[in-house]
Amino acid sequence: MDIGETVTIKTESANVIAEPPTPVQKTPTYIVYESCLRELLTECPDCKMKADVRMRRWGTFLTVLQNCQYCQYSRRWNSQPVLGSTPAGNLQLAAAIYINGASFTNIEKIFKTMNLKIFKWPTFQKYVQRHIEPAIVKQWRASQDGLLAELSQQQNIILGGGMRTDSPGLFARFGSYAMMDLRNNKVIDVQLVESSTCGGVDNMEVKGLGRSLTLLKDHDVRPDTVVTETRPEIEEFLREAAFTHYYDVGHIEKGLSRKLKVISQKKNCRKVKKWLPTIRKHLYWTAETSTTGPEKMAKWMSIVNHIQNVHVHDDPRFPQCLHPPHTGDEDKWLAAGSPAVSKLSKTLMNKKLLNDVERLSPHPHTTSLQHFHSVSKRFAPKQQMFSFQRFLCRLYLAALHFNENSGRPQATSADGEPLFRVAFLKSQTRECTDKPVKVEPTYGYEEELVDLVFDKVFPDPTPYVEEVLKIPRPPDVPSRFDQPCSQDVVFGYVSVINRGGRPPLY
Ligand SMILES: [Zn+2]
Ligand SMILES: [Zn+2]
Repeated sequence: MDIGETVTIKTESANVIAEPPTPVQKTPTYIVYESCLRELLTECPDCKMKADVRMRRWGTFLTVLQNCQYCQYSRRWNSQPVLGSTPAGNLQLAAAIYINGASFTNIEKIFKTMNLKIFKWPTFQKYVQRHIEPAIVKQWRASQDGLLAELSQQQNIILGGGMRTDSPGLFARFGSYAMMDLRNNKVIDVQLVESSTCGGVDNMEVKGLGRSLTLLKDHDVRPDTVVTETRPEIEEFLREAAFTHYYDVGHIEKGLSRKLKVISQKKNCRKVKKWLPTIRKHLYWTAETSTTGPEKMAKWMSIVNHIQNVHVHDDPRFPQCLHPPHTGDEDKWLAAGSPAVSKLSKTLMNKKLLNDVERLSPHPHTTSLQHFHSVSKRFAPKQQMFSFQRFLCRLYLAALHFNENSGRPQATSADGEPLFRVAFLKSQTRECTDKPVKVEPTYGYEEELVDLVFDKVFPDPTPYVEEVLKIPRPPDVPSRFDQPCSQDVVFGYVSVINRGGRPPLY
């Protein structure tokens, strides 16, 4: 056997060993310093003399050509498995960045700070468009189909819907409409609406709601009750569609609290500040404990007596307060005929508010919806601009994360005691409350997504990409799938490496 044959056999055997026994995406990865690699590769494995080492890099991937001028030993060593023409680590890092809702620019900065090599933005974009977003769309739809199939078998479905805009007021370009199954606390649909396609910001919510309800109908899901914010156009839309429509208590409470706060800052009304949490709680209690509109009204209006230390009421539907007799702070009661009572009564008995109270939902959904919107902010921060498709995919990620973690139980101590944390109330910074600590969130959807990218989408992206292209999008936001990208050139380089050619030196 001559030297050449020996080299060939060794190279093949090295390749066999380099094949990981587990899928590439599940193989542990490490940060390796170049000096440590040189320490490993500079010595010729055959004659132990100093070998010539040349390194070439693409993104996070490094290929090393090792040549010994003394015994002619030669081999190529790759720092990562190469799938077709793609280094696994580049694809995996791009997927990890995107799936975690991280910013590529921030990650790139972090890498730069520690001189850790990474690919450029166009490469990231290429992976996102070819593999990552198609996988996200596929996974969300599979998950959504499962939820809708279950709902199609159920009766008395209660849905809650609400919109989040990407910027305040008239400047909003996108609005994301989320529809939740309130009994199971799951997001069942997300619609991204562009203001220019529905005649302005004011119409975005009803557009999102309409699209969601059409999708549900297509899946044979027949909701009984829909809970939304109080908006006349939504009211009209749902009345025409013959749904039972309730108003979300959280939304009404927010508007009312703003008005009450203004009153509490007025001269002679300072005492009102102490009453704000009670009034807020009373609104929620009214919604939760009443079965009819008149009962809600009677309970709600009793608060005006209560703040004046009167606990017996004229309305037979709620003749007296249910709380035990008060002890302690007698100074808190408001005097009858005082400016505070006059201003509070005017606000609490406002005709529009009373109409809204009559329609209060016994199924509060603001907390869940706000929680989902705060999750979606993590995946699609307001300060960043996204294309339609990018925004939508990030919302799908948020929905996958939310649904996996929405039913998390309360955490317990080592002794089995439920854990709480102290939380400050938003509008009353001096007041705090105990909030249950939930168990740590899980991220099973992330692992499933990475597996989908590697096992299904990467080997044959076309059908997955085609599904993404079918998503209706605003006409002024064209798909960028077929835009040429400088990355094509780099893909070419890796193909060259795999064919045994010489990639360019870096
Ligand atoms: Zn040698
Ligand atoms: Zn009372």
